[in-house]
Amino acid sequence: MWFAREIGMTPYISRGARAVGCLMGGAVGDALGAPVEFLDLAEICRQYGSRGIRALELDPPGLAHITDDTQMTMFTAEGLLEMRARERSRDQSSAAVYGRVDQAGMRPVLEAYHRWLMTQGSRPGTGPGTVYAGMGEAGVSEVLSTGELIHVPRLHARRSPGNTCLNSLETGIHMTPDRPQNNSKGCGGVMRAAPAGIIGADPVSAFRLGCRLAALTHGHPSGYIAAGVLAFMISQLMDGEDLLRTAEQAVTAAREQACCEGHPIIPGNPGEETARALEQAIELSESGASATAVTVERIGAGWVAEEALAISLFAALAFPQDFSAAVQLAVNHSGDSDSTGSICGNIVGAFIGITGIPESCCRELELRPEIRRLAIGLSDARGLTVKA
Ligand SMILES: [Mg+2]
Repeated sequence: MWFAREIGMTPYISRGARAVGCLMGGAVGDALGAPVEFLDLAEICRQYGSRGIRALELDPPGLAHITDDTQMTMFTAEGLLEMRARERSRDQSSAAVYGRVDQAGMRPVLEAYHRWLMTQGSRPGTGPGTVYAGMGEAGVSEVLSTGELIHVPRLHARRSPGNTCLNSLETGIHMTPDRPQNNSKGCGGVMRAAPAGIIGADPVSAFRLGCRLAALTHGHPSGYIAAGVLAFMISQLMDGEDLLRTAEQAVTAAREQACCEGHPIIPGNPGEETARALEQAIELSESGASATAVTVERIGAGWVAEEALAISLFAALAFPQDFSAAVQLAVNHSGDSDSTGSICGNIVGAFIGITGIPESCCRELELRPEIRRLAIGLSDARGLTVKA
């Protein structure tokens, strides 16, 4: 193994192993960061020691809890799989999927998010202007009870869901990049976008899927372009690309591809803010800055999308082959620890595959079989193409 690394060779990792690594890694990072999400660094060190939290915290039966980040990632996966199934069956949605993925194209993902909303004890609006307008109660109920995830009792748990996601989905309105309903760039879009990188036919399709699924709730360009960039990176890593090269290509993608996912109001390149955040993460990594919380906090706190992505990338670049060290660096800071842990886990997990993640990291994770099943499903269904 050391020999392969020494001469720059990467051992073969199957797409399935990378897909499971991506989603399971994200879930572990999410669960690791959850207890410290709302603690600043001083308080984390006071409670967990100077190196911060280093192991999953378990509930009395011995399970580690995921949070809204992984819950929504799972519903993203369910929605994308439904989208792919509709594309394959060539029903009326297929034209929308093959052409510009507009309202009709992303609708299965929006419906999946509405089911996630139901698990949080709320429900989408169904009146005029919503996607359910004129559908009748039976039709709406059918949509909101379809799929498997809504019937998994363990997913019906509120784990500090983000307000932007709750509020946007409660409107029942279909938001798109060119028809935003808010100006939020919270990290609630990017934290759930990894599945697009697994099922997308190519990195650019993954980018577009990531942008459009995040824009269902987040209207600020950085809120959804960061999601497109994460999906782009996951797609590259699924293809066996090197992590640093992937990061550098992601900067270019943020600037070049973002123009196709434009915002109607904000002038200039909508991907610039995300591109700069990524550049900062790469520069810090290349400069030899210490892989510590002090450096992480120079990037930001991660409550907003481009910072969450950049912190996660920095931690991944610091420890590309050491999953535990990467997610520990990603969660031990004063910001949004579970989201940066989740995104970092997605990146490193896709890079090294599930076989590269120590079994001890995943053993106590709740919903493991469901997460694995979704990851394999996404990998098997790969091929969703999205045009500009
Ligand atoms: Mg969370």
